[in-house]
Amino acid sequence: MRALQELLGASKVLGTRDELLVYEYDGAVDTATPDAVALPESTADVALLAKYCHEHDVPIVPRGAGTGLSGGAIPVEGGVVVSFARMARILEIDVPNMRAVVQPGVINLHLENATAPYGLHFVPDPSSQKACTLGGNVAENSGGPHTLAYGVTTNHVTGLEIVLSDGSVVRLGGKAIETEGYDLVGAFVGSEGTLGLVTEATVKLTPLPEEKRTLMAAFATMDDASETVSAIIGAGIVPSAIEMMDQLATQAVEASVHAGYPLDAGGILLVEVDGARDGLDESRARIEAICREHGARTIRVAASALERERLWAGRKGAFAAMGRLSPDYYVQDGVIPRTRLPEILRLVKEAGERHGVRIANVFHAGDGNIHPLIMFDLRNGPEELDRAKEASIDILTACIEAGGSLTGEHGVGMEKNCYMPLQFAPADLAAMRRVKESFDPAGLMNPGKIFPTPSRCREFSLAATR
Ligand SMILES: Cc1cc2nc3c(=O)[nH]c(=O)nc-3n(C[C@H](O)[C@H](O)[C@H](O)COP(=O)(O)OP(=O)(O)OC[C@H]3O[C@@H](n4cnc5c(N)ncnc54)[C@H](O)[C@@H]3O)c2cc1C
Repeated sequence: MRALQELLGASKVLGTRDELLVYEYDGAVDTATPDAVALPESTADVALLAKYCHEHDVPIVPRGAGTGLSGGAIPVEGGVVVSFARMARILEIDVPNMRAVVQPGVINLHLENATAPYGLHFVPDPSSQKACTLGGNVAENSGGPHTLAYGVTTNHVTGLEIVLSDGSVVRLGGKAIETEGYDLVGAFVGSEGTLGLVTEATVKLTPLPEEKRTLMAAFATMDDASETVSAIIGAGIVPSAIEMMDQLATQAVEASVHAGYPLDAGGILLVEVDGARDGLDESRARIEAICREHGARTIRVAASALERERLWAGRKGAFAAMGRLSPDYYVQDGVIPRTRLPEILRLVKEAGERHGVRIANVFHAGDGNIHPLIMFDLRNGPEELDRAKEASIDILTACIEAGGSLTGEHGVGMEKNCYMPLQFAPADLAAMRRVKESFDPAGLMNPGKIFPTPSRCREFSLAATR
């Protein structure tokens, strides 16, 4: 720690037990203590730090706001956590080119607030947008309720400044849409901090829609709600968002946010269409008709901006509301073709019953991106977490068998690296490793993430072969 303080200045390095404690966690369930935490204030600081770590063979773990849900920012192999909390400036809002240039610690919602007066926004809006950072969004290739029609983070990043693990500073892309050669910005977005540190990002800004129509439809069963999702998109309508919640989640939300969701519904959908005013009411009417054809018992269309906000506050506050039901929960994140939703939700329920855990569902239904919230209570002992993890393995295996994937948007991190062989052949993993090695030959960037590690994954591979 002293060496780092000499390098960067004492005010930019934390190292006491109390100081390190808060960096042991992110939004997931695994924890590990860093050896030190650095709070750089510039790209030059980051480069200096990386060079030092390279020379002394010290792992580097980038960290935004720590809202990640796969243990990405956890220093599982020790080393220095690099927090971007002090690199949080919006450097430029370039209206004619519809770009913003930001430091990585900028909070997603702060960018939205800053660009709104120009009639523009950065589209990806994770439900954690009040806290999560652009650096975290880039690293996780984050999605959000409104990425159904507009795409996830990778579709909205055109340039990056990165610091590699040897301390070199590299610029990839810029403000233009296409750059010559390989799409290295595309390779970097979603790399979960394993290729380098993002010190600046150039992102696309999109005109705010002229108007929005938001409706909540309540169904007797999750099957009815799920079939409605495919029916809406099958009818050629691509809403900007289709979110779903089951009864357990609705009840938790109502107890805490009072969004006005009916408590007796088996499943509810929140559907939004946006764009030019002309034609929006027709799309909304068609969606309402499809919901009714599929058995919707109640449909509420937001009549004002305030009512729309209230409907969304329920969805965006849903994870936090789970505290009403259980002291701990484990968020899963699988993805499947959306037509398989009814079947996968039944399998989720069965997995909960098999392992004796309660599961609520709140998710991006339009994308087929499920988020089972598996409840447990650590006060009753670690076996409860083990059962939650066993239910997760069943759910993720079902997603892969249904033609989907291990993660829709929360990343692999240290939570799912042991499960990667469920989806990828050894040759696939070897190809990914070669990409990693070309950016980070020393293997110091966020080690223990994405790729299975013998120390942590041995137990899982033994269980899988039983
Ligand atoms: C209530 C709640 C709701 C959520 N909803 C959504 C959602 O709708 N959609 C969604 O996609 N996710 C969601 N998430 C997950 C999470 O918010 C996102 O993954 C987010 O992008 C993480 O940002 P962060 O700043 O907190 O990153 P962190 O958690 O700090 O880090 C995440 C990863 O990014 C890496 N990283 C961070 N900064 C940098 C950098 N500058 N350079 C290189 N690597 C970096 C870290 O090493 C780590 O691997 C939700 C989380 C919570 C708690």
